[in-house]
Amino acid sequence: MTKTVFILGAGFSVPAKIPQQNKLLKMIFSAEISDMSWSTKIEKARSNIADFVLRFFSDKTYIDFLDAQDTSILDFLIDHYDYLADKNIYSFSGNDMEENLDYNKIIYEISSLNDERKLDVIELIIDAKKQDHGLFNKKIFTYIETTKDKVTLEDVFTILDKAIVSKEHFQLYDPSKLMILREDFIFCIIFLFNYYEEGESPIYQELANYLANERVSKEYEKNQFSIITLNWDMTIEKNIFSVVKKSYDKAFKKIRLDYCLYDNDYDIVFNDEKRDDIYSTPSTLLKAKGYKNIKIMKLHGSVNWLTCRKCQRLYYSFKSHLALESFKEDHFPVCPKCCVKKPFDKNSRTRIQADLITPTMIKDLNNVILRNIWENAFLDLSEADRLVFIGYSLPQADFEFRYLMKKSISSNVKIEVVLSTFDDPSLIDSKHSWIKTFLPEDRYRSFFPNDNIKFRYDGVEGFIKSLQ
Ligand SMILES: [Zn+2]
Repeated sequence: MTKTVFILGAGFSVPAKIPQQNKLLKMIFSAEISDMSWSTKIEKARSNIADFVLRFFSDKTYIDFLDAQDTSILDFLIDHYDYLADKNIYSFSGNDMEENLDYNKIIYEISSLNDERKLDVIELIIDAKKQDHGLFNKKIFTYIETTKDKVTLEDVFTILDKAIVSKEHFQLYDPSKLMILREDFIFCIIFLFNYYEEGESPIYQELANYLANERVSKEYEKNQFSIITLNWDMTIEKNIFSVVKKSYDKAFKKIRLDYCLYDNDYDIVFNDEKRDDIYSTPSTLLKAKGYKNIKIMKLHGSVNWLTCRKCQRLYYSFKSHLALESFKEDHFPVCPKCCVKKPFDKNSRTRIQADLITPTMIKDLNNVILRNIWENAFLDLSEADRLVFIGYSLPQADFEFRYLMKKSISSNVKIEVVLSTFDDPSLIDSKHSWIKTFLPEDRYRSFFPNDNIKFRYDGVEGFIKSLQ
């Protein structure tokens, strides 16, 4: 028997238009997004995130963004801050020399305040900007979008996760505030995935077809495969699900996606879909019931998962970015297994929650669901004869996964690495050869002790075409 494990990284999902990690912060603040049903929630989340970025990644305060056009905020300041109201902030105009607030003068007075008083003003701006229809926030969002787009999510999540796990205050943020901020980030990320991710596309359908054919082939027991992904998106599942569903091939009807967990199909549990009972068979029982399972181990969680923190059940959907549902103010999904008794009030129902795992959080994995997935990934990696990395740059930030590989992979495993043309060291001229040390190939060569590594630089598309 031989076993191939496909390992998918961010580059795998590029053709699906998934927002890339290094662009996420910029995209959170990009003005394009206008979705009425989520607008209030987005505005609030953006405002919290902007506040955090301004505090820790810029030298600016709210006062730097204030100008004479912010009349509603300046009116509020004059009404609530006597010290300012007593200053020379009026000008006289018209025939009867009417006294009017002069907003330029107010700006001047604010800029001349001492630091202590400026802090008072900032507190008031934070209150006042809640009522100016987002005009003031918009200036800050644009500033972050255009000048703070290099702030990495790794930095952000390291601060949040470390402080939350150690129950520390991080400067002004206490643990509960940090939790809210983390939720805001996760919400924005899932929202962006839902907004941009393309569904089925020819290139992934081709791959799904190939995998399905391999799975039903008579040779399968001799040549097995499984998939490990570091990605949050659902590109691979969506496409395998649709290929299997659309196929007239009888053998395909036996194929099921296997998350290696005791999971539940959300669409059956919640929407009473009258599908064949077999769809609701949990992953862990598929093989025993004679289905042809395709194992997909999602090490960092997924945008189509919701979990119950009480009973540790996982609910999934192959149709929607389910995780977004959990951010609804009302009619949020609750765990049906934990809500069998008549609920006392709205809050007594067990809400099921989205949980994207950031690299910094894995160390703290107490949850049964993720422990199972990582355990399964360990076993599959240990049994592998061949590893195919697709669009994975082997970043240092994935230290837990690197550790897992070191622990499990045998030294004679064959390794193939599929990367994009931008990663190709042979395209770099000799004058700039130092750049090569920053490319993934260098990391692979130093990480894996064996020389049995083949690199190809024709991207996901090139690789999938070569499978036929
Ligand atoms: Zn439950």
